[in-house]
Amino acid sequence: MRNAYIQEQLESHGRRSVAVLPIHYPKELLTAHDLLAVEIWGPPGSPRGIPTERVQTYVCNIVRNALAFLSSGGADAAQALLCPHTCDSLQGLATLAPDFGGWDKPVFRFQPPKGGDRPSARRFLRAELEQLSDALSTISGEPLDPERLRWALKLHGEIDRIRGHLQRERAHLPWNDTRLYHLLRRGEYLWPEEHLNELCSAYAALTPERAQEGIPIFITGYLPEPMSLFQILESAGAYVVADDYAAIGRRINHAPRATSRDPFDALVDIFFAAPPCPTRGTPQALRIAYLLQQIRASGAAGVLIHTQKFCEPELFDVPAIRAALAAEEIPTLHIEGEVEAELAAQSVTRLEAFVEMIAP
Ligand code: SF4
Repeated sequence: MRNAYIQEQLESHGRRSVAVLPIHYPKELLTAHDLLAVEIWGPPGSPRGIPTERVQTYVCNIVRNALAFLSSGGADAAQALLCPHTCDSLQGLATLAPDFGGWDKPVFRFQPPKGGDRPSARRFLRAELEQLSDALSTISGEPLDPERLRWALKLHGEIDRIRGHLQRERAHLPWNDTRLYHLLRRGEYLWPEEHLNELCSAYAALTPERAQEGIPIFITGYLPEPMSLFQILESAGAYVVADDYAAIGRRINHAPRATSRDPFDALVDIFFAAPPCPTRGTPQALRIAYLLQQIRASGAAGVLIHTQKFCEPELFDVPAIRAALAAEEIPTLHIEGEVEAELAAQSVTRLEAFVEMIAP
């Protein structure tokens, strides 16, 4: 489906595409260059092949599946690959993809600074952004127009504003979680203006007098895969009241889009205003304080920690998060996945038991 969309964008709008690996990257820059960003989160159920056997066994399936996907020609419709330095495994993939994956198109790296906001990190990030913009020009065929970047900043600010609103008000949507996440995840590959139109339709469907029924669950973790997770929660009598998924809630950035100033400085501001994330080197205490605030504000009856097996950045924080939630007497369940097509039976049973346990 994404390949057909990439093709349609090229034929109807002359718009080229860049396949993007997780997680954080300056999407505004790609939009300003009139390049379609198509994200690769696994994908689930990719074929395993010889290239993935060359990856260490302790590497997560996000990387293994992405390598298999690239090597099987899954992303051939895109003109380049962008690999943010999210973790060591993804940085390794940026090297492996051309060598083992049969990927013979340009591979761009984006190395955001880790840790907090400081002058040296700001200078470094700005240089990275300018370097990436020059690299993207080789695909778009045009130098960056600063006015176009200002426009893209505004557009993505509006997308984040509505995604944030839907995240807060989702209990008033006449949709279940499966439908909402399906919509939110379309932002992984749709042209942003098209995604904004769909978000606006969801916004218009909000019905203040309606309230979601069931047990509210807050999720923190990496990726809402397999999506059948939401059906399982719904069948058990629960719903997702808010999330801190790296792919979804954690990428909603409420930073004001000051388009009157230098647009690269604005991009730097936006980066440092993003929600805490272990892959950005957020100190654990800050992340936990943020999560507790989000969980309390959501009114969740329990928290699901949904991580990927072998995901070092996420797993490093899990013991501290569990301890902090236990200290606050917030019921917590941790399940691990491997971007499998269906949730393991054992995880299904544990989810159902958890919902039953926290039911009033
Ligand atoms: S799941 Fe974790 S280890 Fe794997 S690519 Fe993502 S951040 Fe890296």
